[in-house]
Amino acid sequence: MRDVHHFISGAAYEGQSGRYGDIYNPSTGEVQARVALATTDEVDTAVQAAAKAFPEWMTTNPQRRARVMFEFKRLLEANMDELAELLSSEHGKVVADSRGDVQRGIDVVEFACGIPHLQKGEFTEGAGPGIDVYSMRQPLGVCAGITPFNFPAMIPCWMSAVAIACGNTFILKPSEKDPSVPVRLAELFMEAGAPEGVLNVVHGDKTSVDAILEHPEIKAVSFVGSSDIAQYVYATGTAHGKRVQAMGGAKNHGIILPDANMDQAVKDIVGAAYGSAGERCMALPVAVTVGKKTGDEFVERMMEEASNLRVGISTDPDAHYGPVVSAAHKAKVEDYIRLGVEEGAELKLDGRGHTLQGYENGFYVGPTLFDHVKPEMKTYKEEIFGPVLQVVRAETLEEAVALPSNHQYGNGVAIFTSNGRAAREFAAQVNAGMVGINVPIPVPVSYHTFGGWKRSAFGDTNQHGPEGVRFWTKIKTVTQRWPEGDIGDQAFVIPTMG
Ligand code: NAD
Repeated sequence: MRDVHHFISGAAYEGQSGRYGDIYNPSTGEVQARVALATTDEVDTAVQAAAKAFPEWMTTNPQRRARVMFEFKRLLEANMDELAELLSSEHGKVVADSRGDVQRGIDVVEFACGIPHLQKGEFTEGAGPGIDVYSMRQPLGVCAGITPFNFPAMIPCWMSAVAIACGNTFILKPSEKDPSVPVRLAELFMEAGAPEGVLNVVHGDKTSVDAILEHPEIKAVSFVGSSDIAQYVYATGTAHGKRVQAMGGAKNHGIILPDANMDQAVKDIVGAAYGSAGERCMALPVAVTVGKKTGDEFVERMMEEASNLRVGISTDPDAHYGPVVSAAHKAKVEDYIRLGVEEGAELKLDGRGHTLQGYENGFYVGPTLFDHVKPEMKTYKEEIFGPVLQVVRAETLEEAVALPSNHQYGNGVAIFTSNGRAAREFAAQVNAGMVGINVPIPVPVSYHTFGGWKRSAFGDTNQHGPEGVRFWTKIKTVTQRWPEGDIGDQAFVIPTMG
């Protein structure tokens, strides 16, 4: 069986812990490889490699750092097919969707290619007599990223590309469920000309995460995953003196107003709710319809669309979506469907017990649709993370907008309308971090910034874009004077520029 190793100091590093995690092929339900789970000492080995690489990388001029990023981008593009297939085989999403995952990662690498401009400081000439003030953004040192299973190419790039372009060195701890693509990213980054030790990958579970959070040499940690763990990572990392950003779960709402283009709304929402088997933090698992007529029409049209979706193996080019990531996750999603029925929501399409001929052990869940879901239901309040769309009926726009605003999560939200004024008001008022107007999955482009509100993110700095550069650097401000002659008593008073 294939073993997936750590990647330290520019080479594969065989784990010594004797502990391994199984890597499944979700389409067949079979174990296809195993991944070494790191000990605290192995995390330390990676940190030492990154610490050794830091002084030289930090002083490598930004244009040279950018050149490595340009070459990395070229290599990612050249290896797109291999990366996407490998990603699908461990995650289960269809290959076309995996290509999107890799492309979104490439977009962030492309953003990082602009680092000479992005990291430029500020300068004020003549802030006082003979006095100039300038500020510079310096890298932090050894940094770390801990990533979830659902975007094994994009999210490692969100963190590592920006951190490393800024002059930091990096430890990536990817999800143990689909760790092969992150290792390929590190190999390609070396091939692009990065010095050894600049990007290291350690695999593992809670042991390795705790080792990262407690390691005195690590200056900043970026985390993406579920909310309880995000909160734990934020609390533990900051208690150990680190800068931490920790993105959590989501329950994104799409609001459909009576004046929406219903064709567009239904087509957009079917993709956003069921694409990638609903395993996206920017999926749209809640549709809020305004008014009875809109609700009835939406549910009828959605039933027709969703029941025609093709669930298939990840390499089926005609499949709309593939299996969920694990048997445990399939059981969890099916439990939520059972609970939804118990809670009194109206089950219009039931995806439980979905099997695929020839792939009976794969982790499939069919498209599921609930109508008349109520805000007090547990299945509404919690993140299901599966191909389950819940329709909540609202009478007024105010009632509809209050739903996502009052929800515990505040990642993304969307509105479907032809009324610009209502959309503008909605964007201004709604209590969530990313808003779509007739856009179902409002994932910002790489040169803007990604991040939710409330229990969808802990810490106050977002991923990539200028916010990312701020997270991965610290600012230093220099006030310089080249005085002429004796400055006398002025040395004893607080200096002012007046
Ligand atoms: P997860 O929280 O189970 O795992 C995330 C990371 O934490 C993994 O690297 C994992 O090894 C580690 N981990 C798991 N258990 C741990 C523990 N007890 N202590 C310390 N570390 C632990 O998340 P997942 O299932 O891999 O990913 C899905 C979740 O991620 C969903 O909740 C989804 O909404 C969220 N997500 C959020 C965003 C965002 O930007 N807000 C993006 C993608 C995914």
